[in-house]
Amino acid sequence: MILDAHTHLFPSAVLDRRAEFLAADPAFASLYATPRARLATAGDLIGSMDEAGIDVSVAMGFAWCDAGRCASGNDATLDAGARNGGRILPFATVWPLDPDAAYREAQRCAAAGARGLGELRPGVAGGPQYTLASPAGDALAAAARDFDLTLAFHVGEPVGHSYAGKEGFTPAEVLAFAERNRGLRLIAAHWGGGLPFYALMPEIHEALATTWFDTAATSLLYRDDIFALGTALTGVEHILFGSDYPLLSQRRQRRLVEGAPGLTPETRIALLGGNAARLFRLGE
Ligand SMILES: [Zn+2]
Repeated sequence: MILDAHTHLFPSAVLDRRAEFLAADPAFASLYATPRARLATAGDLIGSMDEAGIDVSVAMGFAWCDAGRCASGNDATLDAGARNGGRILPFATVWPLDPDAAYREAQRCAAAGARGLGELRPGVAGGPQYTLASPAGDALAAAARDFDLTLAFHVGEPVGHSYAGKEGFTPAEVLAFAERNRGLRLIAAHWGGGLPFYALMPEIHEALATTWFDTAATSLLYRDDIFALGTALTGVEHILFGSDYPLLSQRRQRRLVEGAPGLTPETRIALLGGNAARLFRLGE
C-alpha cells in the first residue's frame, strides 16, 4: 500500500473566491497570496493519487484564523473522507484560542470520521499566545486523547534558508509537548525541523516513542540523502512518506523516495506506506 501522509485540500469555495479568503484571513494570505501556491479540491487530490499510484492520502485542512472557516474546511475534508471509500483519511483543524470550542470541534470531527488534527501551525493562525505549552496546547492534547486522534504539527527548522511558512512549531516545543503527553500519537511534519538528529540521545528517543516524522516538502528543504540518514537517526518505523500536495507533485515526491540513495527495498516499502498503515491501523 502506498500512503501519502501529508496532503492538503480545500473547499471549492476557496478556489472559486480565493481573493476574498486572502483578504479575510492573514494565515491564508501568508501562504497563498502568491498564485504559485496551488490549491486543490478533493477531486483534484483523487486525480493526483490515481496518476501517482497512491492508494491512500491523509488530507489535512488549513489552520484558518477563524473557527467558522476551520469548520467549513473540516466539512469539505470530512466529506472527501466519507465519499472516497477509505482512500482519504481526513484531518481537521481547529481555532486554538478558544480551547473549549476547539475541543468541541475536534469531537464533532472525530465523530464524523476525522483521524487526526492538522496541519496545526503556530504564529499567524493564533498569534503569540498560540504555543503548545498553553491552554490551546492542552485542549489539543485532551482532544487527541479523548477522541483517539493523531496530531500533526507543522514544524520549522531553526536554521537555514527562509521561505513562506518556515515559521512552524520549533523542534524544542514539539519535543516538550511529546514529553508532557507521553503516548499521544504525534506527526512532526517536514522531518520535524531537524528533531530526528536529537533522537540519537537515548532520553529523547524514548520521549519520541509515539512521534512520527513526515517527509513533506523534502525536495524544497534537503538533499535526498535525508531519507537514508533520517531513517537511521530515528529508526525507519518513525518516518512517513508525505508529499505536501498540491504544493508539490505526489508523483515526483514518490519518485524521490524510490530513487533516494542508500535505502533497502524493505525500508522503501515501510516509508511509502507500511509505517503509516500501522499508525492508522489500516487493514485491521
Ligand atoms: Zn507544513
